[in-house]
Amino acid sequence: MIEKNKLYQLEIIDIGHSGEGIGRVDGFTIFVDGGIPGDLVEIKTVIVKKSYAVGRLLKVLSPSSNRTNPICSIADECGGCQIMHMDYQAQLDIKRNRVEETLKRIGKVDIHVNATLGMENPYQYRNKAQFPVGIINGKAIMGFYKKGSHQIVDTEACHIQHPINETVVKAIKEFINKYNISVYDEKTRKGLIRHVVTKVGYQTGEVMVVIITNGRELPHKESLVKLLKENVKGLRAVVQNINDKNTNVIFGKETITLFGKDTIEDYIGELKFKISAKSFFQVNPIQTKVLYEKALEYADLKGVETVFDIYCGIGTISLFLAQRAKKVIGVEVLEAAIENAIANAEINNISNAEFYTGEAEEIVPKLYAEDIKADVVVVDPPRKGCEKAVLDTIVNMEPKRVVYVSCNPATLARDIAYLHERGYIAVEVQPVDMFPHTGHVETVVKLQRQNP
Ligand code: SAH
Repeated sequence: MIEKNKLYQLEIIDIGHSGEGIGRVDGFTIFVDGGIPGDLVEIKTVIVKKSYAVGRLLKVLSPSSNRTNPICSIADECGGCQIMHMDYQAQLDIKRNRVEETLKRIGKVDIHVNATLGMENPYQYRNKAQFPVGIINGKAIMGFYKKGSHQIVDTEACHIQHPINETVVKAIKEFINKYNISVYDEKTRKGLIRHVVTKVGYQTGEVMVVIITNGRELPHKESLVKLLKENVKGLRAVVQNINDKNTNVIFGKETITLFGKDTIEDYIGELKFKISAKSFFQVNPIQTKVLYEKALEYADLKGVETVFDIYCGIGTISLFLAQRAKKVIGVEVLEAAIENAIANAEINNISNAEFYTGEAEEIVPKLYAEDIKADVVVVDPPRKGCEKAVLDTIVNMEPKRVVYVSCNPATLARDIAYLHERGYIAVEVQPVDMFPHTGHVETVVKLQRQNP
């Protein structure tokens, strides 16, 4: 019996999807933040549930051979990068192994999984940063939340962000300190500046800075714009977003442009995208290209196919596919995302992509009932995977191939098992590292229809 508030020694044998170390004592699973496979650790149990416990890492008694010194001095405190203290190649290996093992355990699918496609330089990869803003001893602080809390860790530079953020953080701190601008306090719900969000176009170098305020009045905003213009190379847009709600959601409804445009542009491959303060865009554009090229390769299009892109978001994959297909049909539940998808098709002069707003489990069967069928299907569902109605309709449509893009190996394994039983066999599995130093893994699978 594992008891609470007791010390235990154990070996870490795996990493969970949030980057937490996993070990066992007498067969009982214990999660240990900061532990990596191969570590022998001493922990104190802080939570004990029926089927697992959570331990606080007290000491690494014998370090894993894959332990390294993270380049970030606050890596242990910050909730952002959970496995930065693990050698990068070892991170890639463990992600591959997790996909293979999950397919086997949950999906009963025994298939070799390719080596994870990683980044040449797994740093400075994020194009979007969100800094909560606070005050300590009368001075502005900006950074990231401490693991599992809303306590701000002050940061000058974040190693996984685009380096332009350093100049933004410096300028905003200077602005707050110089003009005594108040910052938002979650407890009292008073104070003005809540968050600063930056977005950077990796290929264009264009920068957008968004100031999220609790209220409309932003004193000295001309000076803020001036400071940012003087300091931030590539600055194209300064935008104020108003959020006066008591919520953890960063953005409020209303957005006001303080300087420049209200969008920046970036490319993934040859495709151009307009990015606004609130619109979704993949945060690692370099690996997004790697992932989509894999999806496109697996789709194996000859130019004559009708392709469904189910869970299409802002249509990024759809537009990639459209260049090689007769027609692409994108399906997505968020109306704002579909508006972006249509605009993105237009600015890229793509006229063979159509988009439908609604739940995939409703739209896809409806299209099929209207005799609109796919030759190839791409799905990229959220973490919970595909609804059965979606999978059933795909099977009934009898496309030649299904390309499954997944951010969650567990639901991927479940859905692949379901498709296997219905004649779609996984022939290649490729993990891609979209978020180095975190536990997340993205996977693309090619499924082929048997005995067509
Ligand atoms: N393929 C896109 C985004 C995939 S993320 C890209 O590469 O950018 C998953 C998407 O599924 C999100 O955009 C989410 O809004 C959407 N979604 C979630 N549940 C859905 C449902 N039931 N039907 C359709 N879309 C859904």
